[in-house]
Amino acid sequence: MAEIAITCLGSGSALGEGRMWSSLLLDEQTLLSLPPTTIPQLYRLGKDPTAIDRIFISHRHADHFFGLPFFLLLYLYRYTRDTPLFIIGPAGMEEATARLCDIAWSDPDIMEKLAQRARLSFVEIEEEGEHRAGGIAFEAVQMDHFGMDAYGYRITHKGRKIAFTGDTKACLQLDRLIDGADIVITEFTHAVPTDDPGHMDVDAVKLLTARVRQQGGIVLATHLSEAPAPIEGLLLCRDGETYLV
Ligand SMILES: [Zn+2]
Ligand SMILES: [Zn+2]
Repeated sequence: MAEIAITCLGSGSALGEGRMWSSLLLDEQTLLSLPPTTIPQLYRLGKDPTAIDRIFISHRHADHFFGLPFFLLLYLYRYTRDTPLFIIGPAGMEEATARLCDIAWSDPDIMEKLAQRARLSFVEIEEEGEHRAGGIAFEAVQMDHFGMDAYGYRITHKGRKIAFTGDTKACLQLDRLIDGADIVITEFTHAVPTDDPGHMDVDAVKLLTARVRQQGGIVLATHLSEAPAPIEGLLLCRDGETYLV
């Protein structure tokens, strides 16, 4: 079985204390969430930003999406690329990215300028189902996150199924997302039980972990706010660590 390297560029929630915002890098090429702290973390860990071919954005909350103006700035000034950079997210991604970059850098022509230096390919998820981004197949599953257009992704990589929850509360769709997955990367916002209608708490993560372990999978947790007590079988991501799974 081929190993997959998962590098934690950040493991924090939007209100996380002392952690970079959640962002994970799979085998140097695939990014799961893009907050602003991703970019300095890539350089700090000696990663090559141009090796990243696809960026999965689960939903357009700032801690998952607001790194894009910084990431794309690299292509405006430092690098060029001929191969596509896939930006995957809910419907409206391209327009939202253009608006955000315009606000960020006060330049309404920024996307045209970028297009001359890098091939950006937006994959907009209109509804649940199978999709492709270049050579990779994935499935998008609608999550339950404050009623937003928020997706979890099931990505097939090296013959294994990786399920990434993005932000969600426990829900039936989450059960579908993790069903049969080999590797589950779950959000774990609350270290104590809560009634937060948009996020996972300790009880929900315990149940998810037990279920995934039962089906022979492994579970990593990110998007943490505090330091949770250990849960058997659950790997709590730490900023800057690489996990070979
Ligand atoms: Zn969110
Ligand atoms: Zn979040």
